[in-house]
Amino acid sequence: MTDPHPTLPDTDSLRVLAAQRLNRCGAQPPIGGDSGDLVCRTPITGGRMFFLPCAGAEQVEAAVSAAHATFTGWRTTPAPQRGRLVKRLGELLTEYREDLADLVTLEAGKIRSEALGEVQEMIDICDLAVGLSRQLYGRTMPSERPGHRLAEYWHPLGVVAVVSAFNFPVAVWAWNTAVALVCGDTVVWKPSELTPLTAVACDALLARAAADTGAPSGVHQLVLGDRATGEQLVDDARVALVSATGSVRMGREVAPRVAARFGRCLLELGGNNGAVVAPSADLDLAVRGIVFSAAGTAGQRCTTLRRLIVHEDIADRLVDRIVRAYHRLPVGDPFAAATLVGPLINARAHEAMAKALDRAQADGGKLLTGGEPLLRDQAPQARYVAPAVVRMPAQTAIVRTETFAPILYVLTYRTFEEAIALHNDVPQGLSSSIFTSDQREAERFLAADGSDCGIANVNIGTSGAEIGGAFGGEKATGGGRESGSDAWRVYMRRATHTVNYSAELPLAQGVDFL
Ligand code: NAD
Repeated sequence: MTDPHPTLPDTDSLRVLAAQRLNRCGAQPPIGGDSGDLVCRTPITGGRMFFLPCAGAEQVEAAVSAAHATFTGWRTTPAPQRGRLVKRLGELLTEYREDLADLVTLEAGKIRSEALGEVQEMIDICDLAVGLSRQLYGRTMPSERPGHRLAEYWHPLGVVAVVSAFNFPVAVWAWNTAVALVCGDTVVWKPSELTPLTAVACDALLARAAADTGAPSGVHQLVLGDRATGEQLVDDARVALVSATGSVRMGREVAPRVAARFGRCLLELGGNNGAVVAPSADLDLAVRGIVFSAAGTAGQRCTTLRRLIVHEDIADRLVDRIVRAYHRLPVGDPFAAATLVGPLINARAHEAMAKALDRAQADGGKLLTGGEPLLRDQAPQARYVAPAVVRMPAQTAIVRTETFAPILYVLTYRTFEEAIALHNDVPQGLSSSIFTSDQREAERFLAADGSDCGIANVNIGTSGAEIGGAFGGEKATGGGRESGSDAWRVYMRRATHTVNYSAELPLAQGVDFL
């Protein structure tokens, strides 16, 4: 592996950088505290930057109360006016793009270009939501009764709790918040306990946007905390929608609790994404798409490519090219311009990767490259690792499990039907792709009996979705949809109106009564 940056920065300098960036965003840097419930670390060195206070049960209660009280006024504010708040937020995110990207790199370890991309995603969704604020279209239908009008209207839903994961510390919040706010909802955000600083910065910018546009400050509440804080939001009957992004384990806990109180859930859970590579594929393009999807973000995207399903006639050739590309991947300081792979989030992630590699090899898999820890001498607490490729004899249990680290399992197929069966034979259903130059194969992959995922791509990798389409997945991924298209509907409630403007009272279905 290439070492792009022989010297990693030290934790003190990263702490100072974080404080400066927070300051510029108008947030109070939580410097000075030497105790607190949330320990804010940077994966760049693994060192501790700050302690932050965790919201106690009373603070969570107060946040929901404030969001609930604000909702009663916000829901009748005309949607295009609500859009002004989101427009201003988008302007501020644009102004502080670099600062926010630095915070994403500091906390999540994303390389600079991906951190900037994540902030751009926030700006893009604000643009989309502002347009949406004039397009929350209902529908009219012909009534079967004379002198009657039948129509569907969309009304604001209520308080939305956004529970987010560490690996997209700000984009997922923005997907939910920008759309929820124009839909007339108010938001309580519980970010990942691993990435609280980016949340503090975004909350400050949204508060400023509210002040600048005359919107009530109560439309957005931030509660920092761990799983227990999330659970309190999940169980609060005043929370109309719980939008939860994270592991399948988390979704399994959240979904029944919200269902038990007849609340609404939007689940964006883990993926186990596969790409089929057919003999006709353009291999130059495929190698680039595969390496970005599998090793980019150090394998810590929900859409990371984890399973390569390649035709046996081209498997050796393709795998050889991928392994060579992996050997040239610069792993190291995510702030360094040459770096393409930053650190894993923490030691737990590294342990999970090591265990998965052991398991895969015990199942007969051959480790072709990667897995070894890097830069340990410089930062013993950080976890840099060489992305791994493992050739598997079969799709064993470990291959069917999402390990949130850069492991690419390679499987081979003979017939197209076999490729589709292998592809779909996992519990998760988030993202998928096929590399082929055969239009019939491409269309079959996208057809009803092709990929069973929420996202199906042709000749691009599994990661890197645009905000215009609805984002989300099926099966254990949870079935939720966020972002563009008509995903806004989950943030609203539907009312069907029937208006009789005649002097008669005909009943539906020709029923006679009185
Ligand atoms: P995680 O499940 O550990 O935590 C996610 C969030 O849920 C955190 O804020 C956490 O505090 C909270 N949480 C955990 N248990 C909870 C509970 N019982 N009740 C309420 N809240 C709870 O996930 P993570 O490690 O932060 O993120 C990685 C996972 O997220 C991966 O599985 C990844 O695929 C998934 N993810 C999915 C998407 C998507 O859109 N499908 C996007 C990003 C990440």
